[in-house]
Amino acid sequence: MTNDASLVPDVPSELLGRYDRPGPRYTSYPTAPTWSEAHGGAEHAERLRAAGRHAGEPLSMYVHLPYCESMCWFCGCNVVITQDRGKGANYVDEVLREAALARSLLGDDADRPVVQHHWGGGTPTFLPPEHLVRLFEGLRALYPVADDAEVSLEVDPRVTSREQLAALRQVGFNRVSMGVQDFDPKVQQTIHRIQTFEQTAQLVADARDLGYESVNIDLIYGLPFQTTESYARTLELALQLRPDRVACYGYAHVPWLKKHQNVIPEDALPSGEAKLRLYLQALAAFGAGGYVPIGMDHFARAEDSLAEAAERGALHRNFMGYATRPAGDMLSFGVTAISEIDGAFAQNLKGLPEWLAKLDAGELPVERGLRRDADDEARRRIILDLMCRFRLDYADHGGAEAFQKQYADELATLRPMQDDGLVAFDERGLTVTRLGRLFVRNLCMPFDAWLNKKKGADGTGQARFSRTV
Ligand code: SF4
Repeated sequence: MTNDASLVPDVPSELLGRYDRPGPRYTSYPTAPTWSEAHGGAEHAERLRAAGRHAGEPLSMYVHLPYCESMCWFCGCNVVITQDRGKGANYVDEVLREAALARSLLGDDADRPVVQHHWGGGTPTFLPPEHLVRLFEGLRALYPVADDAEVSLEVDPRVTSREQLAALRQVGFNRVSMGVQDFDPKVQQTIHRIQTFEQTAQLVADARDLGYESVNIDLIYGLPFQTTESYARTLELALQLRPDRVACYGYAHVPWLKKHQNVIPEDALPSGEAKLRLYLQALAAFGAGGYVPIGMDHFARAEDSLAEAAERGALHRNFMGYATRPAGDMLSFGVTAISEIDGAFAQNLKGLPEWLAKLDAGELPVERGLRRDADDEARRRIILDLMCRFRLDYADHGGAEAFQKQYADELATLRPMQDDGLVAFDERGLTVTRLGRLFVRNLCMPFDAWLNKKKGADGTGQARFSRTV
């Protein structure tokens, strides 16, 4: 795999007019807007009991810690804003209660090593060290963690101390992911997130000094007032940090879903072509810096396990983004957390009081979900191949003849995209081209039966999604 600046394709402007439209990010298929309240706590409990038969198989785990000290206007996460740090202690108790309830349903025989354990939010390091440790120890007592597991959490350099990182490292955390977004003062002011380069650099140095194996930073392109010049400086500073991985997400402006985004001045947002150019700038900068592009929005140093997994075609995608350790089942705890168990998704209630009330009643605090049928499974595998491998081999999907017959309409929809140079066909399957990688969500959309209203009574409504560019 090459890792130089020549990775940047030429993008004809007319392609943006054709492909910049609302579409899912495919961290799941079927996507979250299709899930229904008919799949609630009782159905999730049933799937957990069924998953007990997968004893010995690896498990992924996610914990959602929703507290943040202040709101960033671009944020798309489910958060609770408070300065009262005492609230975190009770939350730890409740998460452990939820985890114990799920464990009792999985059954005592279901000894399943956790190979990927991640905390996100919110700001996990809103909690003081003693509660962070108590939470991890409590979960590990219920769900043993494999010796070589990736144990990671998201940290906010503005509120995270070396003491917290040290405590977490000592109990087994080996990866940190830091929110940066942009280093430009005007951009930071507009998104309500003032974070100096020195703050971030200090925390990166602390993480390395404490023995964390991997440091990831998150950047966002498409933020208000980002320009070619300002973004070049952000990329230069990001490269100075020498992170192992970089997630470079497009800003998803969805004020109809996230009301606080209304504060963002829309006329200051780079849209369409300007936004795409910012991403291409990142592609060139990280390529020149020795990073390999991974999937649609990640970069990794060539020796990083994510780059190695991509090279082997072993990349996986779930709610945490791209992953190296595919586990069939993912157990998640906390408000709004999404589990994927025995072929079904289940998302927890989003409001803290509602989530707590269910736990008090001894029930799983699930709001909605979906159990995949055989058609969903088949389409999910297609979408995963496109998103993770940029390649689909008919042989992996029932053979050329069956695939072409089953997905004749979908393949017909891809033909104009072939003419536009986004996808190339051969007798064994299809490959997403370097240009097509920029529009991979568009290439997945024809295979999304829910989006195309082949399934579901009300369709999904494309306006619910962010734009694909
Ligand atoms: S710190 Fe992170 S989770 Fe909290 S509001 Fe800001 S972006 Fe959202």
